[in-house]
Amino acid sequence: MTKELQHFVGGKKIKGASGRFGDVYNPATGEVTKKVPLASKGEVEAAIAAADAALPAWAATPPAKRAQVLFKFRDLIYRNLDELAELVSSEHGKTLADAKGSVTRGLEVVEFACGIPQLLKGEFSENVAGGIDTFATRQPVGVCAGITPFNFPAMVPMWMFPMALACGNTFVLKPSEKDPSCGLRLGELMIEAGLPAGVLNVVNGDKVAVDTLLTDPRVGAVSFVGSTAIGHYIYSTGCAHGKRVQALCGAKNHMVVMPDADMDQAVDAAVGAAYGSAGERCMAISVAVAVGEETGNAFVKRLAPRVRSLKIGPYTDAAAEMGPIVTPEAHKKILGYIDKGVAEGAELVVDGRGVKLQGYEKGFYVGGCLFDRVEPRMSIYKDEIFGPVLSVVRAKNYEEALTLVNDHEYGNGTAIFTRDGDAARDFASRAKIGMVGVNVPIPVPVAYHSFGGWKRSLFGDHHMHGMEGVRFYTKLKTVTTRWPSGIRTGAQFHFRSGAEH
Ligand code: NAD
Repeated sequence: MTKELQHFVGGKKIKGASGRFGDVYNPATGEVTKKVPLASKGEVEAAIAAADAALPAWAATPPAKRAQVLFKFRDLIYRNLDELAELVSSEHGKTLADAKGSVTRGLEVVEFACGIPQLLKGEFSENVAGGIDTFATRQPVGVCAGITPFNFPAMVPMWMFPMALACGNTFVLKPSEKDPSCGLRLGELMIEAGLPAGVLNVVNGDKVAVDTLLTDPRVGAVSFVGSTAIGHYIYSTGCAHGKRVQALCGAKNHMVVMPDADMDQAVDAAVGAAYGSAGERCMAISVAVAVGEETGNAFVKRLAPRVRSLKIGPYTDAAAEMGPIVTPEAHKKILGYIDKGVAEGAELVVDGRGVKLQGYEKGFYVGGCLFDRVEPRMSIYKDEIFGPVLSVVRAKNYEEALTLVNDHEYGNGTAIFTRDGDAARDFASRAKIGMVGVNVPIPVPVAYHSFGGWKRSLFGDHHMHGMEGVRFYTKLKTVTTRWPSGIRTGAQFHFRSGAEH
């Protein structure tokens, strides 16, 4: 029996009325387990109206009181961690341990947002001119929208709405239609935590829902995480409609392995970062650049048996290291890239095609794939595959490796593996990439720093969470004051500096 999901608007579950539905799979078995309603324009407008109606009271609520709701929400997440992880894994396919980890990484943003009274403290300058004081304060943007991808159905929404709500905004979340249940549950838990109805709304949908959020004049800011083609569309359409937009997009993260690297550490890092979550992470390592032939030979020799022996299984198997791919379409696309890589002349050292698990024959499994001698002209190098496929590229020297990193169209994350402090320092300084790791393969910043890439991995001016999150979700206001009992200067007809007063 397929379950019919709903929307969550004005603090209540609402049945979809558009008559349009999407399929939600259990990727482990290949079955369609749920139907997700795809909202009509009118249904999204109702969610925006709920957020708009709730805005004045929520924006006027003292930050410390807003933080109290987030403190309770944090406790509720811990209490419901198993349920949330099960929702993530059963629709996404990732292992339960990985799902739990992703929920807790989202939770760290909630914890950061709990400090909002401190984060919103403004600036004050006394006596900027005779008897005149100036203060700067940050006020909410208004109704904000979040459009999120399938690969982190708990964490990415939690990069957005806790920060937006803490800053005094109201919010409409449009989760990925591939795994929408977790977003809906987070909306319910916020109400249980004491959030007034309408402050956070969750509408399910596709392009119709997204286009409504991008064009409705009541929406002031849009946060997006997803693929580059869609992100570029979101950014240009949202900006053309006068909105503040941050669009975090696709990636091709390179790991540079220097001749002096600790090879065991580098290989461990590559296995986890390339194949964890079946490579469906925007910070996954998808290219390893080996500097020098000997380095490349040693790296591939040690890595290949590890990739061959990866334990692939459904999320219900506690021993599984890697689960299935999210949908049949994504599964097909990944297999297509592996075929292309072979046709383009790359050396397929480990072939993960054709993996079948007993009892799960219809699941969307792909085994770990390892390509060697990949060249920049090949599509497996240029494109984001978003699957368990690692390409090894051979570079003659460090400069050639750095050039590869910098010439790629994406600039989300990168890492260097070396014992040489000079090389590491140079790399951290010169890499045209938003997040850099030194002997750290997935350098995802913690919640009190900010997450975001460069080049075609991010459109907009602000990264997510940390102080960048506060800046994105607030408008700066600067107030200059003078009181009647202060110094009188008479009518002024020309600009004067503070020093002249
Ligand atoms: P996607 O772009 O297909 O979907 C993202 C969101 O956009 C979804 O909510 C979807 O409903 C909506 N959408 C899809 N097509 C649309 C259209 N034509 N018009 C308007 N909206 C549309 O991405 P995905 O497959 O869900 O997620 C994987 C992608 O997300 C990868 O490219 C990955 O790198 C990226 N990602 C980036 C980051 C980051 O922080 N940079 C983090 C996670 C994922």
